Amino acid sequence: MPDDIAKPHRAEGFATRLTHAGRSSTHSHGFVNPAVHRGSTVLHPDCVSRREFGKDRFNRVMTYGTQGGPTQYALEDAICEIEGGTRCVLVGTGLAAVTVPLMAFLKAGDHCLMPDSVYGPGRNIATGLMAGYGIETTFYDPVIGEAEIAALMRPNTKVVYTESPGSHTFELQDIPAIARAAHAKGAKVLMDNTWGIHHFMPFEHGVDVSIQALTKYVAGHSDVLLGSITTRSEEDYVTIRTAAGQMGHFAAPDDCWLALRGARTMAVRLKHQEEAGLAVARWFEGRPEVLRVLHPGLPSHPQHALFKRDFTGSCSLFGVVFDPRYTEAEIFRFIDGLALFGIGASWGGFESLALPTTGFVTRTATNPDLGGFTARFHIGLEDVGDLIADLEQGLATLPK
Ligand SMILES: *Cc1c(COP(=O)(O)O)cnc(C)c1O
Repeated sequence: MPDDIAKPHRAEGFATRLTHAGRSSTHSHGFVNPAVHRGSTVLHPDCVSRREFGKDRFNRVMTYGTQGGPTQYALEDAICEIEGGTRCVLVGTGLAAVTVPLMAFLKAGDHCLMPDSVYGPGRNIATGLMAGYGIETTFYDPVIGEAEIAALMRPNTKVVYTESPGSHTFELQDIPAIARAAHAKGAKVLMDNTWGIHHFMPFEHGVDVSIQALTKYVAGHSDVLLGSITTRSEEDYVTIRTAAGQMGHFAAPDDCWLALRGARTMAVRLKHQEEAGLAVARWFEGRPEVLRVLHPGLPSHPQHALFKRDFTGSCSLFGVVFDPRYTEAEIFRFIDGLALFGIGASWGGFESLALPTTGFVTRTATNPDLGGFTARFHIGLEDVGDLIADLEQGLATLPK
């Protein structure tokens, strides 16, 4: 039976590890799954033992609800297993997982490098709160190499932020090259690894801190908001945990329990969705209405060589650039007419989604023009044939 002692899971397959990750007989009284421990107050037998109460192999001490408890610990351990990291801090949203490490590693007078293709709200904190606190951010072309990143480094550059592929535009970054340039000047490398979950092992490519919107594939059912910040070193964990604590960040036990339940089936979902996503992306690529498909797993992607070098597979989120002869109104009508694709933000759930992205992409260092109206597609767990039939009837409504 799994217990609190780390088992040598590494040699086993991903699905096997996901089945066992974070399961502790100590806290679940023998039940397969951990209980949901809701609570603010933790009662202690006496004043002295209060200091060490519940201390586990990571020195996590249960003194108050904000410190987390068994439900959060179980998910933290599972995320470390998925990301290949040492320690994990859970926060209430994926966005908080973006902002907390930035605030933890940067202070007034520091400089930050951020890819121009960063998730929009990540740009917002850089140009908003961070700028207000005297932290300067330079947005860089996401596809630049080691020498160009090195040239952007300043003595006060403390964080090089990365996200690969970029939100909406799907450029892949040369993470090992960026990490070499950053580490040569003593900066931390942060990465939003939500798209690459399981298929990109951040700490094997030089990343110091890996960010996940657990909202997406880990929760997997579009019913939870949650984020994780995983570190390679104990020292970085302490820096982030301290900042998260000072700002009062917390991950609710019910949400952690749901995310853990999602993680149990994630290997199967990811496998299905990878294949389904590629099938639909390839189908789009063969259509005369489509200018190009933005999917790193397709040979047509400009950084496909990086994909083959660094990723073991892809998730089911990609972009479609329509032929420039189509207007926004025509593409809106096509999307509105789809029966099986919901129109909405987020992704990673069991259901397929379509979202217009033209007009929602901010770029200040690179050209945002992709050549035509663009939409983002998330492929869920439906039968691929049904999805393609739906898209086919939708495209038939477009003028030839
Ligand atoms: C959705 C998303 C986030 C934020 O997650 P939320 O839980 O919605 O706050 C962060 N990064 C990327 C790349 C995302 O797609």
